[in-house]
Amino acid sequence: MGLIVQKFGGSSLADPEDRERVIQRICSTRAQGHDVVVVVSAIGRYPQAYSTDGLLQLIADCTQEQDPRECDLLMSCGEIISAVVIAHLLRREGCSAVALTGAQAGIITTPDHRDAHIIRVEADRIRTHLGRGETVVVAGFQGVTETGEITTLGRGGSDTTAAALGCALSADRVEIYTDVDGIMTADPRIVPTASTVRCLSYRDVCEMAQMGAKVIHPRAVEIAMEGRVPIHIRNTFTDEEGTLVGTVSGPDGAVEIRADRLVTSIAHIPGLAQVRVEMNCGTKQCPSARDVFRSLADSCVSIDLINLSPGQALFTIKESDGATASRVLNSLGASFTIEKGFAKVSAVGAGMRGVPGVMATIVEALSDAGVRIYQTADSHQSISCLVRVEDMEVAAKALHDRFGLAR
Ligand code: ADP
Ligand code: ASP
Ligand code: MG
Repeated sequence: MGLIVQKFGGSSLADPEDRERVIQRICSTRAQGHDVVVVVSAIGRYPQAYSTDGLLQLIADCTQEQDPRECDLLMSCGEIISAVVIAHLLRREGCSAVALTGAQAGIITTPDHRDAHIIRVEADRIRTHLGRGETVVVAGFQGVTETGEITTLGRGGSDTTAAALGCALSADRVEIYTDVDGIMTADPRIVPTASTVRCLSYRDVCEMAQMGAKVIHPRAVEIAMEGRVPIHIRNTFTDEEGTLVGTVSGPDGAVEIRADRLVTSIAHIPGLAQVRVEMNCGTKQCPSARDVFRSLADSCVSIDLINLSPGQALFTIKESDGATASRVLNSLGASFTIEKGFAKVSAVGAGMRGVPGVMATIVEALSDAGVRIYQTADSHQSISCLVRVEDMEVAAKALHDRFGLAR
């Protein structure tokens, strides 16, 4: 029998009945003869006390900047609490189990607090526990640096813990349990006609996740793709088939190559600000584009949708980075504006590469829906439009309909 990594998100652990359901899933997988490594997120969502945002609330104080190292220490507690609770419930059910922190599970990361990357997994301790017939419950979303500092992997990062353990342990598959039936053609919270997609390539899911589809963490997909570990995304609370991500095998074991679809989904990211920096200030001395971009990078402000012309630099940042960007640009003596209240809406599909007319369809759909486009960007697998945040839902629904994704 095989080894399966099962990850349960915070929404699947919110109350005792939910946790009971999780325990039944783990026990039934064990009863089929599989070894199981469980990865858990923090319990519930804000305002639940032990959720990540619930914990962060304890030090939310606008008058003082938070220390990133201590923020990570605090946030890591949520997943540790969760792992202990699940291991305890498993033992109560007669299933021997052990809870491990990310550090104890051998997850070694870079030192970038709040957004650390896993650099390797030292999985011997997990293997020893599995060898004793124990179910290992690992606290997701966290690791430890070479110098012993606790780090976290970026919001939504428990998926990444699961994918990394799946690769390190050569698992048969990684199962991600969440509160929707699988990966859908859009976020069902904003596009109610969204439908579940049965099978998707790593490439498509990676692009969707990068464009904001919160259902899976982008780095989890990259890691699983590199390690060739299939991911199965399922609903904790239903028996729906879910979404398979990875190489598709036919009934005789042969690999089926499927044509990529033109547009597989619509993704969105709210909370963006548009920054405009003058590059031509008449008699006044302007900072150069290289100074602007280097200084923002040095202050860890990540930028997107970048248009650079001799007269101006136009780009987006997270609204939460607005104060830092403003400080940096003021220190350079730049003439600039930062306008909040934007969202990015993207059409994603690996099949759009080189196909004419996708942009035309997007512009037609958004203009018919009365949505103004402020900026655009494209890659081989997606086209993104910056719109006012109040138009985000209308824009996502309009594109979802126009590309025939509605149920
Ligand atoms: P978990 O707590 O299980 O990690 P998340 O909140 O991180 O759950 O992710 C699940 C949520 O992702 C869903 O409730 C849904 O609103 C959102 N979501 C965004 N885009 C998609 C999509 N394309 N398919 C499915 N869910 C999506
Ligand atoms: N608990 C963390 C978060 O809320 C990690 C996760 O849920 O994957 O971001
Ligand atoms: Mg998540």
